[in-house]
Amino acid sequence: MAAIVFSLIFLRLSDPWPVKVLRYSTFDSMQEISPREKESDQIVLVEIDENSLSKIGQWPWPRSSLSKLTDTILSQNPRSLGIDIIFPEPDRTSPDLIAAQNKNLPKGIKDALAALPSNDTQLAESIDNNPVVLGMAVGYGTQRKIPDSTSDSILMIGKDVRNAIPEYSQVLRNIPRLEQAAKAQGISNIAQDPDGLIRRIPFVYNINGTLVPAFETEILRISLNNTPTEIISNNSKIKQINAGGLTFNTDQSGSAWIYFSNKPNTQTVSAESVLSGNVSKSFFTNKIVLVGVTAVGIADYTPSPTGQNLSSLSLHAQALDSMLTNTLLSHTHLSTSIELIFFLIIGIVLIWVANSYAALELTVAFAILCWSIILVSWGGFSYQKLLIDPTLALILTLSLYLIAASAGFFHEQKQRRSDAKEAFLREREKETRIRKLQNELMHTIGKSSVQKLSSSIAHEMNQPMAAIFNYTNAARRILEKDDTDKDMLKSVLGKILTQADRGSDILKSIREGAETGKTSVKALDVNRIIKEEVELIKDVGDVETVQIILACDGDLPLALANEIQLHQVLLNLIRNAVQAITHSDTGKSLEGEIEIKTTCNSDGMIQVSISDSGPGLSDQEKETLFKPFYTSKEQGMGLGLAICRSILEALGGSLWVEENKKGGAVFHFTLPPS
Ligand code: ADP
Repeated sequence: MAAIVFSLIFLRLSDPWPVKVLRYSTFDSMQEISPREKESDQIVLVEIDENSLSKIGQWPWPRSSLSKLTDTILSQNPRSLGIDIIFPEPDRTSPDLIAAQNKNLPKGIKDALAALPSNDTQLAESIDNNPVVLGMAVGYGTQRKIPDSTSDSILMIGKDVRNAIPEYSQVLRNIPRLEQAAKAQGISNIAQDPDGLIRRIPFVYNINGTLVPAFETEILRISLNNTPTEIISNNSKIKQINAGGLTFNTDQSGSAWIYFSNKPNTQTVSAESVLSGNVSKSFFTNKIVLVGVTAVGIADYTPSPTGQNLSSLSLHAQALDSMLTNTLLSHTHLSTSIELIFFLIIGIVLIWVANSYAALELTVAFAILCWSIILVSWGGFSYQKLLIDPTLALILTLSLYLIAASAGFFHEQKQRRSDAKEAFLREREKETRIRKLQNELMHTIGKSSVQKLSSSIAHEMNQPMAAIFNYTNAARRILEKDDTDKDMLKSVLGKILTQADRGSDILKSIREGAETGKTSVKALDVNRIIKEEVELIKDVGDVETVQIILACDGDLPLALANEIQLHQVLLNLIRNAVQAITHSDTGKSLEGEIEIKTTCNSDGMIQVSISDSGPGLSDQEKETLFKPFYTSKEQGMGLGLAICRSILEALGGSLWVEENKKGGAVFHFTLPPS
C-alpha cells in the first residue's frame, strides 16, 4: 500500500499528459457546475460579423474602413481600444500600392493615387495618441525580436524569472507605422491545450529571452493606471503579477485559469452598425472596447471548458472580464502541495485503519476521506478561487480501500479454510486413534495365540461365570438346609438364569461385532444400568469392605449405547476401583469408598465419573494404562481399560483418568445423548 502512495506521488510530480487531462477535466467540470456569475459591465465587443461583411464587403477590409471604425469608437473616449487583428503586411488596397501595381494606368491617375494617403497611414493616424492596443502572435512569422517599446512595460520584482516562462523563437509583428502608432502591443494568440481547449491565459510571454506582455495585460494597463506590469517571484518562480494596479495569483509560469461565464452579458455590437452610426453617442465612453473578426469561416472558434464555442474575441472578453472581476482561478504551488499532502494523509490513515480495525471502520474512513477531499477541493474553488485537484487523491483512496478490503476478505477466507482444515484433521486424527486402538487390539489378539484370544473372551465371561458359580453355591446351601426356603431358592435360581442370559448376550455381542464390525445401539437410562451393575457386584461378593455411593443426576437424558457394552464398561471400571482399594492381588484387604456420579456436562454429553479412595496412579501409569496387556496385577490380563476405551470411542464418547483430589483415581467416561 505504501508503494502505491509513493508511486502516485511520483506520478503527480512527473505530471504526464494523462494526469493533466484528468485534472483539467475535473477543473472543467467544476466550472460547468458553477460558472462565473460576476461580470464587470466594462467591456464592449465590436464584431466584424457576417452582417458587416455583407454590407461593407469581403474580408480583409481596406484599412481605411478600419480607420473609420476606429475613429468612430475613439471619438466616444473609451478607456482603451484593443484591436484583435494583426497587420503584418502593408494594405495592398492602399491607393499608392494600387498605382505601383498597375503600371498601365494613365500617369495622371497614378500621380493622383500616389498623392492620396495610404490606408495604413489612415489607420495609423486614427490610432496615433489614442489608448489603442494591437495584437501580435507568438510562434508565427519570421521576426525574432519584439518591438523595443513593449518590453519597457514589464518589471521583474525579485529574481530573474525568464527561465520559468516557456520560450518562443518567432513573433508575428505589425507593420512599423502601426507599431509606432499603437500605445501598446501584446501577444493575442492564446495557446490551446493538447485537447484543443483554451483554459489558461499567460500574463507574459518569453520571446528569445525578452519578456512581452499579453494582449489582456496591456489592455488592463492602458485602461487602468498605465504603470508597468510587475512580476513578483519567489525562488525564480512566478508567484503573483500586478497589472493595471490589480494583483493576480498565477502558476509558476505566470498563467492563470480563465473563469468562464456561461452566458456573458458583455455588450456586443456589429461593426456595420458602428460604421453606419447606429450606436448611441456614449456607447463606448469609458468602456474597454475590443474589435475583432467573428464571421464564421474567417474567425477562429475554440470550444470553452463550459461547453461553448467561443470566437477569439469572446475568449479575450472572458479573460478580461475574469481579470476585472478578480475571479481568475489559479492552480499554484500551494495547490500542488495540498494535493501531495492529501496523498500522505490518505496513505497514513488507510494503512493505519486497515491494520488496526475491521472492515466497517475501513469503510467509514474511506467515506470520510472521500468527502474531505471533495469538500477541500470545492471549498478552494468556491471561496479562494484556488484549483485543487481531487481526482488522483480520490483514485488513491479508492485503490487503497479496495486493496485493504480485499486483503481483509482473503485473510478471512484463508482463516476459515485453515479452521475447516484443522477441524477435518482433528476428526481424522480421532478416527485414526480409534482405528489404531482397535487394530492394536486385533493385532495383539491376532498375533497372540488362540489362548490369548480365549483369554480375552474369558475376561468378559469371567463375571457372569463367577456370579453363576456364587449363586449356584448359594442354592446348594439353601437345599442342604432342612426347611428349604422355596422363595429364596426361586430368587437365587432366577439370578442364575439372568447371569446365564448375560453370558450368552456377551458372546452374542462379541460374535456380532466380529461378523459385522458394528454394534446395535439404543437409548439407555445410564442411572438404571449403574444401579443394576452395583447390585450385581455386591451379590457376587468381595466388596464388603468397600462402600459404594451413588450420586445420580435425576434429570439425566438417555444415552445412545449398547446395553451389554455399557455393563461391561461399568463392571470393568468398578471392579478395578474395588481392586485398587482392597489390593486383592496382595492379599491385603482395606476399607474404602467408591463414588459413582452421573452428570450432563457442558458439551451436552452424559458423563459418568467413578472415583475411588485407592492408591491412585503415577504419571507413567496414566500414560500406559489404556494400552492392551498393561497390568499391575498378578492375575490381571490388562485388557479391561483398552476394551472400555475402544467401546466408548466407537460409541462417540471418551474415557480418561484424573487424580482424585481426596486421594485415589477418578475414571471419567462420556456417552452421546440419544
Ligand atoms: P487388569 O485389571 O486386568 O489389570 P485393566 O486394563 O482393567 O486390566 O487395568 C490395567 C491396570 O490399570 C491395572 O492393572 C491397574 O494397575 C491399573 N488400574 C486400573 N484401574 C485402577 C484404579 N482405579 N486405581 C489404580 N490403578 C488402576
